[in-house]
Amino acid sequence: MPIQLLTDKVIAQIAAGEVIERPASVIKELIENSLDAGATTVHVAVVGGGRRLMRVSDNGQGIPSDEIELAFARHATSKLVQADDLSHIRTLGFRGEALASIASISRVTMTSRTPTEMVGVQLQLESSQILQRKAVGVPAGTVITVENLFFNTPARLKFLKAENTEKRQIALVIGRYALAFPGVRFILEQDGREVFRTSGGGELADAVVTTLGIQTFKDLIEIDSTSTNARSAVKVRGYTSIPGHSRADRSRIMLFVNGRWVQDASLSYAVIQAYHTFLMKGRFPVSVVMIDIPPEEVDVNVHPTKAEVRFQNPNEVFTEVQRTIRRALLGLAETSGLRTGRVTASLAAHGWQNTIQQMDMDLELDSPGWYAHQRSDRQSETADYGTEIPVGPEAPQKPRTLPLLRVVGQVGASYIVAEGPAGLYLIDQHAAHERILYEQFMENHARRDTLTQYTLSGETIELPPAEARLIEANIHALEMVGFLLEPFGPNTFMIRSLPALLADKNPAEVIQGVIEEIELEQTPGQASIEEKIIQQVCKQAAVKAGTVLSMEEMQGLIRQLERAQSPLTCPHGRPTMLHMSSDQLAREFGRK
Ligand code: ADP
Ligand code: MG
Repeated sequence: MPIQLLTDKVIAQIAAGEVIERPASVIKELIENSLDAGATTVHVAVVGGGRRLMRVSDNGQGIPSDEIELAFARHATSKLVQADDLSHIRTLGFRGEALASIASISRVTMTSRTPTEMVGVQLQLESSQILQRKAVGVPAGTVITVENLFFNTPARLKFLKAENTEKRQIALVIGRYALAFPGVRFILEQDGREVFRTSGGGELADAVVTTLGIQTFKDLIEIDSTSTNARSAVKVRGYTSIPGHSRADRSRIMLFVNGRWVQDASLSYAVIQAYHTFLMKGRFPVSVVMIDIPPEEVDVNVHPTKAEVRFQNPNEVFTEVQRTIRRALLGLAETSGLRTGRVTASLAAHGWQNTIQQMDMDLELDSPGWYAHQRSDRQSETADYGTEIPVGPEAPQKPRTLPLLRVVGQVGASYIVAEGPAGLYLIDQHAAHERILYEQFMENHARRDTLTQYTLSGETIELPPAEARLIEANIHALEMVGFLLEPFGPNTFMIRSLPALLADKNPAEVIQGVIEEIELEQTPGQASIEEKIIQQVCKQAAVKAGTVLSMEEMQGLIRQLERAQSPLTCPHGRPTMLHMSSDQLAREFGRK
Protein backbone atom coordinates (compact mmCIF):
# COMPACT_ATOMS: atom_id res chain seq x y z
CA MET A 1 0.00 0.00 0.00
CA PRO A 2 1.34 3.48 -0.83
CA ILE A 3 1.86 5.86 2.07
CA GLN A 4 -1.29 7.94 2.59
CA LEU A 5 -2.45 10.48 5.08
CA LEU A 6 -5.15 9.11 7.34
CA THR A 7 -8.54 10.78 7.08
CA ASP A 8 -9.66 12.89 10.02
CA LYS A 9 -12.31 10.33 10.79
CA VAL A 10 -9.80 7.49 11.11
CA ILE A 11 -7.46 9.68 13.16
CA ALA A 12 -10.34 10.47 15.49
CA GLN A 13 -11.24 6.81 15.90
CA ILE A 14 -7.68 5.80 16.64
CA ALA A 15 -7.31 8.58 19.19
CA ALA A 16 -10.64 7.62 20.74
CA GLY A 17 -9.24 4.17 21.48
CA GLU A 18 -6.76 5.71 23.89
CA VAL A 19 -9.40 7.33 26.07
CA ILE A 20 -12.39 5.07 25.50
CA GLU A 21 -11.63 1.46 26.01
CA ARG A 22 -15.00 0.23 27.17
CA PRO A 23 -18.40 1.57 28.26
CA ALA A 24 -17.08 2.30 31.75
CA SER A 25 -14.54 4.72 30.24
CA VAL A 26 -17.40 6.73 28.73
CA ILE A 27 -19.12 6.86 32.09
CA LYS A 28 -15.88 7.97 33.71
CA GLU A 29 -15.37 10.84 31.27
CA LEU A 30 -18.97 12.00 31.46
CA ILE A 31 -19.03 11.93 35.26
CA GLU A 32 -15.83 13.95 35.33
CA ASN A 33 -17.37 16.56 33.06
CA SER A 34 -20.41 16.77 35.35
CA LEU A 35 -18.21 17.16 38.41
CA ASP A 36 -16.06 19.79 36.70
CA ALA A 37 -19.29 21.63 35.91
CA GLY A 38 -20.02 21.82 39.63
CA ALA A 39 -22.91 19.35 39.63
CA THR A 40 -24.32 18.26 42.99
CA THR A 41 -26.38 15.45 41.48
CA VAL A 42 -25.10 13.06 38.84
CA HIS A 43 -27.58 10.54 37.52
CA VAL A 44 -26.22 7.70 35.41
CA ALA A 45 -28.50 5.38 33.46
CA VAL A 46 -27.19 2.40 31.55
CA VAL A 47 -28.92 -0.07 29.27
CA GLY A 48 -27.38 -3.33 28.12
CA GLY A 49 -24.14 -2.90 30.01
CA GLY A 50 -23.60 0.43 28.29
CA ARG A 51 -23.45 -0.94 24.79
CA ARG A 52 -26.99 0.06 23.96
CA LEU A 53 -27.26 3.30 25.89
CA MET A 54 -25.57 5.38 28.53
CA ARG A 55 -27.00 8.60 29.86
CA VAL A 56 -25.45 10.99 32.34
CA SER A 57 -27.59 13.86 33.62
CA ASP A 58 -26.29 16.59 35.87
CA ASN A 59 -27.38 19.86 37.45
CA GLY A 60 -24.09 21.58 36.71
CA GLN A 61 -23.39 24.92 35.07
CA GLY A 62 -24.33 23.77 31.55
CA ILE A 63 -22.80 24.79 28.22
CA PRO A 64 -23.66 28.12 26.57
CA SER A 65 -25.63 27.42 23.40
CA ASP A 66 -23.04 29.06 21.15
CA GLU A 67 -20.30 26.80 22.50
CA ILE A 68 -21.98 23.44 22.33
CA GLU A 69 -20.53 22.46 18.92
CA LEU A 70 -17.10 23.46 20.11
CA ALA A 71 -17.35 21.10 23.06
CA PHE A 72 -17.14 18.24 20.54
CA ALA A 73 -14.08 19.56 18.72
CA ARG A 74 -10.82 17.81 19.52
CA HIS A 75 -8.64 19.68 22.01
CA ALA A 76 -11.46 22.00 22.92
CA THR A 77 -11.69 22.65 26.64
CA SER A 78 -12.85 25.39 28.95
CA LYS A 79 -10.49 24.22 31.68
CA LEU A 80 -7.02 25.05 30.46
CA VAL A 81 -5.56 27.83 28.41
CA GLN A 82 -1.81 27.63 28.75
CA ALA A 83 0.44 24.65 29.37
CA ASP A 84 1.43 26.44 32.53
CA ASP A 85 -2.09 26.01 33.93
CA LEU A 86 -1.39 22.28 34.07
CA SER A 87 0.80 22.70 37.11
CA HIS A 88 -2.07 23.82 39.29
CA ILE A 89 -4.97 22.06 37.63
CA ARG A 90 -7.93 21.48 39.95
CA THR A 91 -10.40 20.07 37.45
CA LEU A 92 -10.66 16.41 36.54
CA GLY A 93 -10.60 17.05 32.79
CA PHE A 94 -8.35 19.36 30.81
CA ARG A 95 -7.32 17.51 27.66
CA GLY A 96 -10.42 18.39 25.67
CA GLU A 97 -10.53 14.90 24.18
CA ALA A 98 -13.37 13.02 25.76
CA LEU A 99 -16.42 14.39 23.97
CA ALA A 100 -14.63 14.40 20.60
CA SER A 101 -13.60 10.81 21.13
CA ILE A 102 -16.97 9.59 22.28
CA ALA A 103 -18.76 11.35 19.41
CA SER A 104 -16.48 9.68 16.87
CA ILE A 105 -17.45 6.16 17.88
CA SER A 106 -21.13 6.41 18.79
CA ARG A 107 -24.31 8.40 18.45
CA VAL A 108 -24.39 11.23 20.97
CA THR A 109 -27.24 13.48 21.98
CA MET A 110 -26.37 16.38 24.22
CA THR A 111 -28.90 18.69 25.81
CA SER A 112 -27.69 21.57 27.91
CA ARG A 113 -28.73 24.88 29.38
CA THR A 114 -26.86 27.37 31.51
CA PRO A 115 -28.78 28.93 34.42
CA THR A 116 -28.69 32.35 32.70
CA GLU A 117 -30.10 31.25 29.35
CA MET A 118 -33.85 30.94 28.81
CA VAL A 119 -33.81 27.96 26.47
CA GLY A 120 -31.43 25.13 26.12
CA VAL A 121 -29.98 23.50 23.05
CA GLN A 122 -29.92 19.94 21.84
CA LEU A 123 -27.23 18.64 19.53
CA GLN A 124 -27.13 15.21 17.95
CA LEU A 125 -24.00 13.71 16.38
CA GLU A 126 -22.95 10.40 14.90
CA SER A 127 -19.40 9.48 13.87
CA SER A 128 -18.46 13.10 14.69
CA GLN A 129 -21.01 14.44 12.16
CA ILE A 130 -23.70 16.79 13.41
CA LEU A 131 -27.09 15.30 12.57
CA GLN A 132 -29.33 17.83 14.22
CA ARG A 133 -29.41 20.96 16.36
CA LYS A 134 -32.45 22.46 17.98
CA ALA A 135 -33.59 24.70 20.81
CA VAL A 136 -35.32 22.93 23.69
CA GLY A 137 -36.87 23.84 27.00
CA VAL A 138 -34.94 21.95 29.69
CA PRO A 139 -33.85 22.42 33.29
CA ALA A 140 -30.42 23.98 33.80
CA GLY A 141 -27.66 21.42 33.51
CA THR A 142 -26.54 18.88 30.99
CA VAL A 143 -27.86 15.54 29.77
CA ILE A 144 -25.69 13.50 27.48
CA THR A 145 -26.83 10.25 25.90
CA VAL A 146 -24.44 7.88 24.18
CA GLU A 147 -25.90 5.11 22.05
CA ASN A 148 -24.41 2.29 19.97
CA LEU A 149 -20.92 2.66 21.32
CA PHE A 150 -18.20 1.29 18.98
CA PHE A 151 -20.77 0.69 16.23
CA ASN A 152 -18.24 1.89 13.65
CA THR A 153 -15.17 0.27 15.19
CA PRO A 154 -15.90 -3.46 14.91
CA ALA A 155 -12.47 -4.39 16.27
CA ARG A 156 -13.29 -2.70 19.60
CA LEU A 157 -16.73 -4.16 19.67
CA LYS A 158 -15.29 -7.63 19.34
CA PHE A 159 -13.15 -7.20 22.43
CA LEU A 160 -15.95 -6.00 24.65
CA LYS A 161 -16.49 -8.26 27.62
CA ALA A 162 -19.77 -9.87 28.60
CA GLU A 163 -22.58 -7.49 29.50
CA ASN A 164 -22.35 -8.37 33.17
CA THR A 165 -18.65 -7.61 33.26
CA GLU A 166 -19.29 -4.18 31.80
CA LYS A 167 -22.12 -3.57 34.25
CA ARG A 168 -19.79 -4.34 37.09
CA GLN A 169 -17.06 -2.10 35.74
CA ILE A 170 -19.52 0.75 35.51
CA ALA A 171 -20.65 0.18 39.09
CA LEU A 172 -17.01 0.18 40.21
CA VAL A 173 -16.31 3.47 38.42
CA ILE A 174 -19.31 5.16 40.02
CA GLY A 175 -18.32 3.80 43.41
CA ARG A 176 -14.93 5.47 43.08
CA TYR A 177 -16.42 8.88 42.33
CA ALA A 178 -18.94 8.45 45.10
CA LEU A 179 -16.03 7.98 47.49
CA ALA A 180 -14.05 10.87 46.08
CA PHE A 181 -17.04 13.23 46.09
CA PRO A 182 -19.20 12.52 49.13
CA GLY A 183 -20.87 15.90 48.64
CA VAL A 184 -22.35 14.88 45.31
CA ARG A 185 -25.39 12.65 45.04
CA PHE A 186 -24.75 9.79 42.62
CA ILE A 187 -27.52 7.62 41.26
CA LEU A 188 -26.94 4.58 39.10
CA GLU A 189 -29.75 2.98 37.18
CA GLN A 190 -29.09 -0.21 35.26
CA ASP A 191 -31.70 -1.48 32.81
CA GLY A 192 -34.32 0.75 34.39
CA ARG A 193 -33.59 -0.34 37.94
CA GLU A 194 -31.92 1.88 40.52
CA VAL A 195 -29.00 -0.03 41.97
CA PHE A 196 -26.97 2.62 43.72
CA ARG A 197 -27.58 5.96 45.37
CA THR A 198 -25.46 8.08 47.64
CA SER A 199 -26.84 10.81 49.84
CA GLY A 200 -24.50 13.56 48.73
CA GLY A 201 -24.48 14.68 52.34
CA GLY A 202 -20.76 15.29 52.30
CA GLU A 203 -19.64 12.65 54.79
CA LEU A 204 -17.00 10.24 53.54
CA ALA A 205 -18.29 7.64 56.01
CA ASP A 206 -21.71 7.64 54.33
CA ALA A 207 -20.14 7.18 50.93
CA VAL A 208 -17.99 4.31 52.22
CA VAL A 209 -21.04 2.56 53.69
CA THR A 210 -22.96 2.84 50.43
CA THR A 211 -20.06 1.85 48.23
CA LEU A 212 -18.34 -0.88 50.21
CA GLY A 213 -21.29 -2.06 52.27
CA ILE A 214 -22.08 -1.83 55.96
CA GLN A 215 -20.48 -5.22 56.65
CA THR A 216 -17.11 -3.93 55.52
CA PHE A 217 -17.56 -0.52 57.08
CA LYS A 218 -17.95 -2.07 60.52
CA ASP A 219 -14.42 -3.37 60.20
CA LEU A 220 -12.85 -0.08 59.13
CA ILE A 221 -11.06 2.48 61.25
CA GLU A 222 -10.52 6.10 60.42
CA ILE A 223 -7.12 7.37 59.40
CA ASP A 224 -6.03 11.01 59.52
CA SER A 225 -2.50 12.30 59.15
CA THR A 226 -3.32 15.74 60.50
CA SER A 227 -3.97 14.32 63.94
CA THR A 228 -0.27 13.55 64.33
CA ASN A 229 1.51 15.56 61.68
CA ALA A 230 -0.31 18.74 60.83
CA ARG A 231 2.65 20.40 59.15
CA SER A 232 3.25 18.16 56.15
CA ALA A 233 1.92 19.47 52.84
CA VAL A 234 0.77 15.93 52.14
CA LYS A 235 -2.47 15.12 53.93
CA VAL A 236 -3.76 11.60 54.21
CA ARG A 237 -7.20 10.63 55.46
CA GLY A 238 -9.78 7.95 54.94
CA TYR A 239 -10.56 4.47 56.23
CA THR A 240 -8.66 1.25 56.52
CA SER A 241 -9.57 -2.24 57.66
CA ILE A 242 -8.72 -3.72 61.03
CA PRO A 243 -6.28 -6.62 60.80
CA GLY A 244 -9.06 -9.16 61.31
CA HIS A 245 -10.63 -8.13 58.01
CA SER A 246 -8.65 -8.87 54.89
CA ARG A 247 -9.01 -9.90 51.31
CA ALA A 248 -7.25 -12.21 48.93
CA ASP A 249 -6.35 -9.45 46.49
CA ARG A 250 -5.42 -5.79 46.56
CA SER A 251 -8.40 -4.56 44.58
CA ARG A 252 -9.94 -2.89 47.64
CA ILE A 253 -6.96 -0.68 48.27
CA MET A 254 -8.42 2.46 46.74
CA LEU A 255 -6.23 5.49 46.38
CA PHE A 256 -7.28 9.03 45.55
CA VAL A 257 -5.04 11.99 44.88
CA ASN A 258 -6.77 15.36 45.08
CA GLY A 259 -10.12 13.68 44.47
CA ARG A 260 -8.87 11.67 41.54
CA TRP A 261 -8.85 7.89 41.74
CA VAL A 262 -5.38 6.64 40.85
CA GLN A 263 -3.64 3.36 40.32
CA ASP A 264 -0.19 3.46 41.81
CA ALA A 265 1.66 0.29 42.64
CA SER A 266 4.09 1.97 44.98
CA LEU A 267 1.36 3.69 46.99
CA SER A 268 -0.57 0.41 47.26
CA TYR A 269 2.64 -1.06 48.52
CA ALA A 270 2.89 1.67 51.14
CA VAL A 271 -0.53 0.62 52.41
CA ILE A 272 0.42 -3.07 52.44
CA GLN A 273 3.69 -2.24 54.20
CA ALA A 274 1.77 -0.51 56.95
CA TYR A 275 0.18 -3.88 57.73
CA HIS A 276 3.51 -5.63 58.11
CA THR A 277 3.04 -8.38 60.74
CA PHE A 278 -0.63 -7.43 61.04
CA LEU A 279 -1.71 -9.48 58.05
CA MET A 280 -0.65 -12.84 56.78
CA LYS A 281 1.26 -13.09 53.56
CA GLY A 282 -1.10 -13.08 50.61
CA ARG A 283 -3.82 -11.16 52.47
CA PHE A 284 -4.61 -7.53 51.73
CA PRO A 285 -6.51 -4.79 53.53
CA VAL A 286 -9.51 -2.74 52.48
CA SER A 287 -8.43 0.90 52.37
CA VAL A 288 -9.89 4.12 51.12
CA VAL A 289 -7.00 6.55 51.14
CA MET A 290 -7.54 10.20 50.27
CA ILE A 291 -4.29 12.01 49.61
CA ASP A 292 -4.38 15.78 49.37
CA ILE A 293 -1.32 17.45 48.00
CA PRO A 294 -0.65 20.90 46.52
CA PRO A 295 -1.49 20.56 42.79
CA GLU A 296 1.93 21.83 41.74
CA GLU A 297 3.55 18.85 43.43
CA VAL A 298 1.77 16.26 41.33
CA ASP A 299 1.62 15.67 37.57
CA VAL A 300 -1.69 14.20 36.50
CA ASN A 301 -0.95 14.39 32.79
CA VAL A 302 0.96 11.13 32.56
CA HIS A 303 -1.62 9.05 30.74
CA PRO A 304 -4.73 9.85 28.66
CA THR A 305 -7.02 8.21 31.20
CA LYS A 306 -5.26 10.11 34.01
CA ALA A 307 -5.34 7.06 36.27
CA GLU A 308 -1.62 7.42 36.84
CA VAL A 309 0.06 10.35 38.49
CA ARG A 310 3.63 11.40 39.11
CA PHE A 311 4.70 13.04 42.35
CA GLN A 312 7.46 15.57 42.61
CA ASN A 313 8.45 13.95 45.84
CA PRO A 314 7.24 10.35 45.84
CA ASN A 315 9.04 9.35 49.02
CA GLU A 316 7.28 11.97 51.06
CA VAL A 317 3.88 10.73 49.87
CA PHE A 318 4.80 7.10 50.37
CA THR A 319 6.02 7.73 53.90
CA GLU A 320 3.02 9.80 54.87
CA VAL A 321 0.58 7.13 53.67
CA GLN A 322 2.42 4.32 55.38
CA ARG A 323 2.92 6.25 58.61
CA THR A 324 -0.70 7.36 58.87
CA ILE A 325 -2.07 3.86 58.43
CA ARG A 326 0.54 2.26 60.65
CA ARG A 327 -0.25 4.73 63.44
CA ALA A 328 -3.93 3.95 63.25
CA LEU A 329 -3.25 0.22 63.44
CA LEU A 330 -0.86 0.55 66.34
CA GLY A 331 -3.30 2.81 68.14
CA LEU A 332 -5.92 0.15 67.68
CA ALA A 333 -3.68 -2.54 69.11
CA GLU A 334 -3.13 -0.43 72.23
CA THR A 335 -6.73 0.36 73.02
CA SER A 336 -8.77 -2.21 74.81
CA GLY A 337 -12.14 -3.68 74.00
CA LEU A 338 -13.68 -5.58 71.19
CA ARG A 339 -11.44 -4.35 68.46
CA THR A 340 -8.24 -5.27 70.25
CA GLY A 341 -9.61 -8.76 70.52
CA ARG A 342 -9.78 -8.96 66.78
CA VAL A 343 -6.31 -7.59 66.35
CA THR A 344 -4.76 -10.06 68.72
CA ALA A 345 -6.62 -12.87 67.07
CA SER A 346 -5.18 -12.04 63.70
CA LEU A 347 -1.74 -11.19 65.01
CA ALA A 348 -1.80 -14.62 66.49
CA ALA A 349 -2.10 -16.10 63.05
CA HIS A 350 1.66 -15.76 62.99
CA GLY A 351 2.50 -17.39 66.26
CA TRP A 352 0.53 -20.54 66.70
CA GLN A 353 0.72 -20.48 70.49
CA ASN A 354 -1.87 -17.75 70.65
CA THR A 355 -4.36 -19.20 68.27
CA ILE A 356 -5.74 -21.61 70.79
CA GLN A 357 -8.56 -19.08 71.07
CA GLN A 358 -9.94 -20.41 67.82
CA MET A 359 -9.63 -23.88 69.15
CA ASP A 360 -13.09 -25.15 69.72
CA MET A 361 -14.82 -23.06 67.13
CA ASP A 362 -13.91 -24.71 63.94
CA LEU A 363 -14.23 -28.44 63.99
CA GLU A 364 -17.80 -29.56 64.26
CA LEU A 365 -17.31 -33.21 65.03
CA ASP A 366 -20.73 -34.45 64.24
CA SER A 367 -21.37 -32.31 61.21
CA PRO A 368 -22.63 -34.65 58.51
CA GLY A 369 -20.03 -33.36 56.08
CA TRP A 370 -17.10 -35.60 56.71
CA TYR A 371 -16.74 -36.96 60.16
CA ALA A 372 -19.53 -39.50 59.96
CA HIS A 373 -18.00 -40.86 56.86
CA GLN A 374 -14.55 -40.93 58.32
CA ARG A 375 -15.64 -42.79 61.44
CA SER A 376 -16.83 -45.76 59.47
CA ASP A 377 -13.88 -45.56 57.15
CA ARG A 378 -11.35 -45.71 59.87
CA GLN A 379 -11.84 -48.87 61.86
CA SER A 380 -10.48 -51.32 59.35
CA GLU A 381 -7.12 -49.58 59.17
CA THR A 382 -6.42 -48.31 62.61
CA ALA A 383 -6.54 -51.79 64.09
CA ASP A 384 -2.97 -52.17 62.89
CA TYR A 385 -1.86 -49.65 65.41
CA GLY A 386 -3.87 -50.97 68.25
CA THR A 387 -6.13 -47.94 68.57
CA GLU A 388 -9.50 -48.78 69.94
CA ILE A 389 -12.18 -47.74 67.54
CA PRO A 390 -15.74 -48.96 67.82
CA VAL A 391 -16.72 -51.17 64.93
CA GLY A 392 -19.34 -49.73 62.60
CA PRO A 393 -20.74 -50.49 59.16
CA GLU A 394 -18.10 -50.81 56.50
CA ALA A 395 -17.91 -47.89 54.07
CA PRO A 396 -17.17 -48.60 50.44
CA GLN A 397 -13.43 -48.25 50.06
CA LYS A 398 -11.76 -46.22 47.40
CA PRO A 399 -8.36 -47.22 46.15
CA ARG A 400 -5.47 -46.15 48.30
CA THR A 401 -3.29 -43.34 46.96
CA LEU A 402 -0.97 -42.97 49.95
CA PRO A 403 0.68 -45.56 52.12
CA LEU A 404 -0.85 -46.34 55.48
CA LEU A 405 0.20 -43.58 57.85
CA ARG A 406 0.41 -43.57 61.62
CA VAL A 407 -0.34 -40.30 63.34
CA VAL A 408 2.36 -39.27 65.78
CA GLY A 409 0.97 -35.94 66.90
CA GLN A 410 0.25 -32.34 66.04
CA VAL A 411 2.61 -29.41 65.66
CA GLY A 412 1.56 -25.81 66.10
CA ALA A 413 -2.10 -26.81 66.14
CA SER A 414 -1.76 -26.75 62.36
CA TYR A 415 0.31 -29.68 61.15
CA ILE A 416 -0.11 -33.37 61.67
CA VAL A 417 3.06 -35.39 62.09
CA ALA A 418 2.72 -38.90 60.70
CA GLU A 419 4.93 -41.85 60.04
CA GLY A 420 4.73 -44.27 57.13
CA PRO A 421 6.81 -47.00 55.64
CA ALA A 422 8.74 -44.44 53.63
CA GLY A 423 9.57 -42.04 56.44
CA LEU A 424 8.15 -38.93 58.04
CA TYR A 425 5.20 -36.87 56.84
CA LEU A 426 4.22 -33.38 57.93
CA ILE A 427 0.66 -32.70 56.83
CA ASP A 428 -1.06 -29.34 56.66
CA GLN A 429 -4.39 -30.11 58.33
CA HIS A 430 -6.30 -27.33 56.62
CA ALA A 431 -5.00 -28.07 53.13
CA ALA A 432 -5.57 -31.78 53.59
CA HIS A 433 -9.11 -31.32 54.82
CA GLU A 434 -9.81 -28.93 51.96
CA ARG A 435 -8.69 -31.62 49.53
CA ILE A 436 -10.90 -34.27 51.14
CA LEU A 437 -13.99 -32.07 51.26
CA TYR A 438 -13.40 -30.92 47.72
CA GLU A 439 -13.31 -34.41 46.29
CA GLN A 440 -16.40 -35.42 48.24
CA PHE A 441 -18.22 -32.35 47.11
CA MET A 442 -17.25 -32.82 43.48
CA GLU A 443 -18.36 -36.42 43.61
CA ASN A 444 -21.78 -35.53 44.99
CA HIS A 445 -21.97 -32.61 42.65
CA ALA A 446 -21.35 -34.83 39.62
CA ARG A 447 -24.29 -36.95 40.77
CA ARG A 448 -26.33 -33.76 41.18
CA ASP A 449 -26.59 -34.68 44.80
CA THR A 450 -25.57 -31.48 46.50
CA LEU A 451 -26.35 -31.34 50.20
CA THR A 452 -28.23 -28.17 50.87
CA GLN A 453 -29.15 -26.63 54.16
CA TYR A 454 -32.25 -24.46 54.04
CA THR A 455 -32.23 -21.47 56.31
CA LEU A 456 -35.39 -20.82 58.21
CA SER A 457 -34.62 -17.37 59.46
CA GLY A 458 -34.45 -15.93 55.94
CA GLU A 459 -31.45 -13.74 56.57
CA THR A 460 -30.84 -11.02 54.02
CA ILE A 461 -27.56 -9.65 52.85
CA GLU A 462 -27.06 -6.23 51.36
CA LEU A 463 -24.12 -5.84 49.05
CA PRO A 464 -22.38 -2.98 47.31
CA PRO A 465 -23.73 -2.75 43.74
CA ALA A 466 -20.66 -4.17 42.02
CA GLU A 467 -20.80 -7.24 44.21
CA ALA A 468 -24.55 -7.58 43.83
CA ARG A 469 -24.10 -7.66 40.05
CA LEU A 470 -21.48 -10.36 40.47
CA ILE A 471 -23.90 -12.47 42.48
CA GLU A 472 -26.65 -11.91 39.92
CA ALA A 473 -24.36 -12.92 37.10
CA ASN A 474 -23.49 -16.15 38.87
CA ILE A 475 -26.77 -16.91 40.55
CA HIS A 476 -27.24 -20.14 38.63
CA ALA A 477 -23.77 -21.46 39.40
CA LEU A 478 -24.32 -20.56 43.05
CA GLU A 479 -27.56 -22.47 43.07
CA MET A 480 -25.90 -25.55 41.63
CA VAL A 481 -23.54 -25.53 44.58
CA GLY A 482 -26.29 -25.06 47.16
CA PHE A 483 -26.60 -21.31 47.57
CA LEU A 484 -30.18 -20.25 46.94
CA LEU A 485 -30.19 -16.47 46.86
CA GLU A 486 -33.32 -14.57 46.05
CA PRO A 487 -33.20 -10.96 44.87
CA PHE A 488 -34.81 -8.89 47.59
CA GLY A 489 -34.50 -5.25 46.62
CA PRO A 490 -31.90 -3.62 44.38
CA ASN A 491 -28.73 -4.91 46.05
CA THR A 492 -30.18 -7.20 48.66
CA PHE A 493 -30.59 -10.95 48.60
CA MET A 494 -32.54 -13.28 50.81
CA ILE A 495 -30.40 -16.25 51.75
CA ARG A 496 -32.65 -19.28 51.29
CA SER A 497 -30.05 -21.98 51.58
CA LEU A 498 -26.37 -22.70 51.97
CA PRO A 499 -24.35 -25.78 51.13
CA ALA A 500 -24.80 -28.15 54.08
CA LEU A 501 -21.08 -28.15 54.76
CA LEU A 502 -21.38 -24.54 55.84
CA ALA A 503 -24.53 -24.93 57.90
CA ASP A 504 -22.81 -23.68 61.04
CA LYS A 505 -21.11 -20.67 59.47
CA ASN A 506 -22.23 -17.07 59.28
CA PRO A 507 -24.05 -16.82 55.90
CA ALA A 508 -23.00 -13.23 55.23
CA GLU A 509 -19.34 -14.08 55.78
CA VAL A 510 -19.62 -17.16 53.64
CA ILE A 511 -21.05 -15.13 50.80
CA GLN A 512 -18.37 -12.47 51.13
CA GLY A 513 -15.78 -15.21 50.77
CA VAL A 514 -17.49 -16.55 47.68
CA ILE A 515 -17.59 -13.11 46.10
CA GLU A 516 -13.89 -12.70 46.73
CA GLU A 517 -13.17 -16.02 45.12
CA ILE A 518 -15.25 -15.25 42.03
CA GLU A 519 -13.56 -11.89 41.66
CA LEU A 520 -10.14 -13.46 41.59
CA GLU A 521 -8.67 -14.38 38.26
CA GLN A 522 -9.39 -17.92 37.26
CA THR A 523 -6.49 -20.13 38.33
CA PRO A 524 -5.17 -22.48 35.68
CA GLY A 525 -6.93 -25.81 35.69
CA GLN A 526 -10.11 -24.44 37.21
CA ALA A 527 -12.85 -25.77 35.02
CA SER A 528 -15.69 -23.41 35.84
CA ILE A 529 -17.13 -20.78 38.08
CA GLU A 530 -18.95 -23.57 39.90
CA GLU A 531 -15.68 -25.20 40.69
CA LYS A 532 -14.38 -21.91 42.05
CA ILE A 533 -17.37 -21.63 44.32
CA ILE A 534 -16.98 -25.22 45.47
CA GLN A 535 -13.34 -24.59 46.27
CA GLN A 536 -14.33 -21.62 48.36
CA VAL A 537 -17.00 -23.60 50.18
CA CYS A 538 -14.48 -26.32 51.02
CA LYS A 539 -11.94 -23.76 52.13
CA GLN A 540 -14.42 -22.25 54.55
CA ALA A 541 -15.64 -25.60 55.80
CA ALA A 542 -12.19 -27.12 56.28
CA VAL A 543 -10.66 -27.25 59.73
CA LYS A 544 -8.57 -24.11 60.27
CA ALA A 545 -4.90 -23.90 61.01
CA GLY A 546 -4.58 -23.19 64.71
CA THR A 547 -7.19 -25.76 65.70
CA VAL A 548 -6.07 -28.36 68.20
CA LEU A 549 -7.20 -31.80 67.01
CA SER A 550 -7.58 -34.97 68.99
CA MET A 551 -5.65 -38.05 67.97
CA GLU A 552 -8.86 -39.57 66.65
CA GLU A 553 -9.70 -36.59 64.56
CA MET A 554 -6.25 -36.56 63.05
CA GLN A 555 -6.40 -40.25 62.30
CA GLY A 556 -9.80 -39.84 60.69
CA LEU A 557 -8.48 -37.07 58.50
CA ILE A 558 -5.41 -39.04 57.44
CA ARG A 559 -7.48 -42.16 56.65
CA GLN A 560 -9.50 -40.13 54.20
CA LEU A 561 -6.51 -38.41 52.72
CA GLU A 562 -4.93 -41.78 52.03
CA ARG A 563 -7.75 -42.49 49.62
CA ALA A 564 -8.13 -39.09 48.04
CA GLN A 565 -7.61 -38.97 44.31
CA SER A 566 -4.95 -36.27 44.52
CA PRO A 567 -3.80 -36.31 48.12
CA LEU A 568 -0.66 -34.27 47.59
CA THR A 569 -2.20 -30.88 46.82
CA CYS A 570 -5.11 -28.80 48.03
CA PRO A 571 -7.74 -27.74 45.45
CA HIS A 572 -5.79 -24.52 44.90
CA GLY A 573 -2.69 -26.48 44.02
CA ARG A 574 -0.68 -25.90 47.17
CA PRO A 575 1.03 -28.88 48.81
CA THR A 576 -0.80 -30.75 51.57
CA MET A 577 2.30 -32.41 52.95
CA LEU A 578 6.05 -32.48 53.29
CA HIS A 579 7.78 -35.81 53.19
CA MET A 580 11.16 -36.74 54.58
CA SER A 581 12.26 -40.22 53.62
CA SER A 582 13.94 -42.62 56.05
CA ASP A 583 17.05 -42.23 53.94
CA GLN A 584 16.99 -38.45 54.26
CA LEU A 585 16.49 -38.70 58.00
CA ALA A 586 19.41 -41.05 58.32
CA ARG A 587 21.57 -38.77 56.24
CA GLU A 588 20.62 -35.68 58.21
CA PHE A 589 21.66 -37.39 61.43
CA GLY A 590 24.91 -38.61 59.96
CA ARG A 591 23.91 -42.25 60.16
CA LYS A 592 24.60 -42.76 56.49
P1 ADP B 1 -12.32 18.36 29.00
O1 ADP B 1 -13.17 17.81 30.07
O2 ADP B 1 -10.96 17.80 29.01
O3 ADP B 1 -12.31 19.83 28.97
P2 ADP B 1 -14.27 17.21 27.24
O4 ADP B 1 -14.18 16.76 25.82
O5 ADP B 1 -14.60 16.18 28.24
O6 ADP B 1 -12.89 17.89 27.59
O7 ADP B 1 -15.32 18.38 27.34
C1 ADP B 1 -15.14 19.52 26.54
C2 ADP B 1 -15.78 20.73 27.17
O8 ADP B 1 -17.20 20.59 27.15
C3 ADP B 1 -15.43 20.94 28.62
O9 ADP B 1 -14.22 21.67 28.76
C4 ADP B 1 -16.64 21.73 29.13
O10 ADP B 1 -16.49 23.07 28.88
C5 ADP B 1 -17.78 21.22 28.27
N1 ADP B 1 -18.59 20.21 28.97
C6 ADP B 1 -18.57 18.89 28.77
N2 ADP B 1 -19.46 18.25 29.56
C7 ADP B 1 -20.06 19.20 30.30
C8 ADP B 1 -21.07 19.18 31.34
N3 ADP B 1 -21.64 18.03 31.76
N4 ADP B 1 -21.45 20.37 31.87
C9 ADP B 1 -20.88 21.52 31.46
N5 ADP B 1 -19.92 21.59 30.51
C10 ADP B 1 -19.51 20.46 29.93
MG1 MG C 1 -13.80 15.86 30.21
